[in-house]
Amino acid sequence: MSESVRHAINSGKLSGDGAICKSVETQLTSLFGMKYALLTTSCTHALEMAMMMLDLQPGDEVIIPSFTFVSTANAVLRAGGKPVFCEINDRTMTIDVQDAERRMTNRTKAIVPVHYAGVAADMDAVLNVARINRSIVVVEDAAQGVNATYKKKFLGTIGDCGAYSFHDTKNYVSGEGGAFITNSGELVRKAEIIREKGTNRSNFLRGEVDKYTWVGVGSSFVQSEILAAVLKSQLEDLATIQNERKRVHEFYMKTLKDLENRERLRLPIIPDECQSNYHIFYILLRNETERLRVMKQMKDAGVATSFHYVPLHSSPYALEHLQTADLRLPVTDSVFERLLRLPIYPQLENSQLEYIVETLRRILK
Ligand SMILES: *Cc1c(COP(=O)(O)O)cnc(C)c1O
Repeated sequence: MSESVRHAINSGKLSGDGAICKSVETQLTSLFGMKYALLTTSCTHALEMAMMMLDLQPGDEVIIPSFTFVSTANAVLRAGGKPVFCEINDRTMTIDVQDAERRMTNRTKAIVPVHYAGVAADMDAVLNVARINRSIVVVEDAAQGVNATYKKKFLGTIGDCGAYSFHDTKNYVSGEGGAFITNSGELVRKAEIIREKGTNRSNFLRGEVDKYTWVGVGSSFVQSEILAAVLKSQLEDLATIQNERKRVHEFYMKTLKDLENRERLRLPIIPDECQSNYHIFYILLRNETERLRVMKQMKDAGVATSFHYVPLHSSPYALEHLQTADLRLPVTDSVFERLLRLPIYPQLENSQLEYIVETLRRILK
């Protein structure tokens, strides 16, 4: 890593959209087979760009799962729309498309499938409900889905547009960072303007106009060349990083199988049409009390586990501002109470994995 970063610093051009950003964008498009990729300051900002392009009017609705990171909802609100929360399915913790369809109205402008843990939402079903008799835009929150596929297509490239995250907590990182991706020439032109403070600077840099000026509403979402250089070296290790995560995933799957057979826990399900990037490894325990007990005892044994997401529909903000008090999303609530994330990162050694599994087995015996 240090060499590409040093090169970026020595080049004297530290701001974004320069040679390094461009080369990483080209790398992304050729790795994942989409037409356009624009590096951004974060996935949050890539989602905000996608929502800003929809030109939402007051009362326009965007359907998102309640079981997601806050950025999915904030992007809708900041673009002037109303997030409508829907249920997830308990096989992959991704959007329950039938429930989403029931929540569609004539104000529904977009739907955001969130690919959870590196495993795709049921994109055929999403595209069906969005496109048959409707024209609802599909924005993929592929923050956790970089280098994972659904029916051999890379996540983020299947809907109208998608958003990647290169945040430190994700699989391939630049510290902070993300990308807006699409196959649509129309959407990428809008995205370029929003990303460059509402100017046509991108056209200017390509020599298409002789000066650049204010042409729309935008913000500052370009990633710095230094961070792009960090990402560049990460993408060179793409296969290694994924293989090491796969090793950890398969170790857990093999060694925890009998606990699943004895109904102590449920293991993750990766449908046949999905190739995971092994972003998260989670187990589902029997109830919240057990989840808390396991977490505590794992912590006492020196193993950090975690859980998420406080369902957005029951968050303080939604209760106060989005009238969600009467919304019932039982699968979301149950998954939130029972889900436990085990450590998964490339450097985990087999001896550490054995210790984690032995500890868990002792707690759940
Ligand atoms: C991490 C994450 C984000 C936000 O990514 P940033 O790059 O940190 O802005 C958005 N959505 C989901 C589902 C995420 O996991």
